[in-house]
Amino acid sequence: MNKIGAYIHIPFCEKKCYYCDFAAFPNLENWIRPYVSNLIKEMNFYRQRMDVIIDTIYIGGGTPSYIDARLIEEIVEEIYKFKTDIKEFTIEANPNSLNKEKLKTYKKLGINRISLGVQSFDDRVLKNIGRNHTRERALRDIDLIREAGFKNLSFDLMLNLPGQDMDSVKKDLDFVKKINPDHISWYSLILDKGSRFYALDKEGKLDLMDSDLEVDIFDMIIDELSRLNLKRYEVSNFAKQGFESLHNKKYWNGEGYFGFGLGASGYLLNTRYTNTRNLAIYDKFIRENKLPIINKEFIDRDEKEKEYIIFKLREAQGINLKTFKEKFKADFLEKYKESVDKFYRDGFFEISDRISFTKKGFSLSNEFFLEII
Ligand code: SF4
Repeated sequence: MNKIGAYIHIPFCEKKCYYCDFAAFPNLENWIRPYVSNLIKEMNFYRQRMDVIIDTIYIGGGTPSYIDARLIEEIVEEIYKFKTDIKEFTIEANPNSLNKEKLKTYKKLGINRISLGVQSFDDRVLKNIGRNHTRERALRDIDLIREAGFKNLSFDLMLNLPGQDMDSVKKDLDFVKKINPDHISWYSLILDKGSRFYALDKEGKLDLMDSDLEVDIFDMIIDELSRLNLKRYEVSNFAKQGFESLHNKKYWNGEGYFGFGLGASGYLLNTRYTNTRNLAIYDKFIRENKLPIINKEFIDRDEKEKEYIIFKLREAQGINLKTFKEKFKADFLEKYKESVDKFYRDGFFEISDRISFTKKGFSLSNEFFLEII
């Protein structure tokens, strides 16, 4: 039977960060309880119609740790009504919203991985991006997570933030060294259209580092993390051996997954679907016993191949040429010969029984994708 992943979205936060355009809202406490009931109905709807086994779960947001742990318990009880064979169960948390009791509940529910939104260990930078926590609070919560017995700890960190420079990132790396997490996602700031930073940038009021410095700093990050045995296994993801995210790999391998909740996307039966991002519309759909889907796209063979290439080349291990041939009945090196040759000549690809980007190739990956799409 098909083993698939499940993503569950919790769209509530204590405060909106300046760079954020996710489906995540502060000051909507009254919506939390009805939202969780709707989420349970949505999961139940799928469960009645699909016979699958769920083997990875990811509760993301928003800030899942912001809501009452009893509500997380209700959600998890519902998901356990599916057939499950859980290999990885992650919950996202933000410093300032965790405590011992919540962590105890998560542990009891079988959650085995915490992804903590640290973003930076520099208080000045945290303030500049509108986070509501300090370094001290993040360090305290990391201790709580370890004390609660979670062996698999991941951090989110960010690059190219206002006020951030080489020194600030070096200090972040010192903290990483001391804390010794198992996994890190280190993303560069993206100016999403609905965010406060996007508007500030349009007005020329956002002071970010120049792109050469950003590349130099990211190179340093890759080298330093590698020394700590945190190997880059995807463009922005680093892990100790055996701690690569199984749930994310489902996205990258083109495997199936449910997307439950506001703004969530799922991929089932060759169809990608996206739920509404509007909380009132989500509520209305579920009350009317309808799925809250606003967009559905059938992924045909060509599209699947393109997505596979993009996702796999974003991983350090790249594409296994034999697997590609079996999957798509085509020789990758032949089919994309012109573009591959050009990038290979310039030292952007390594080719053996696999094809993967070199370190300098990674930074030009988008140009390759544009050529072949
Ligand atoms: S970045 Fe995370 S914590 Fe901040 S508003 Fe967005 S979802 Fe909430």
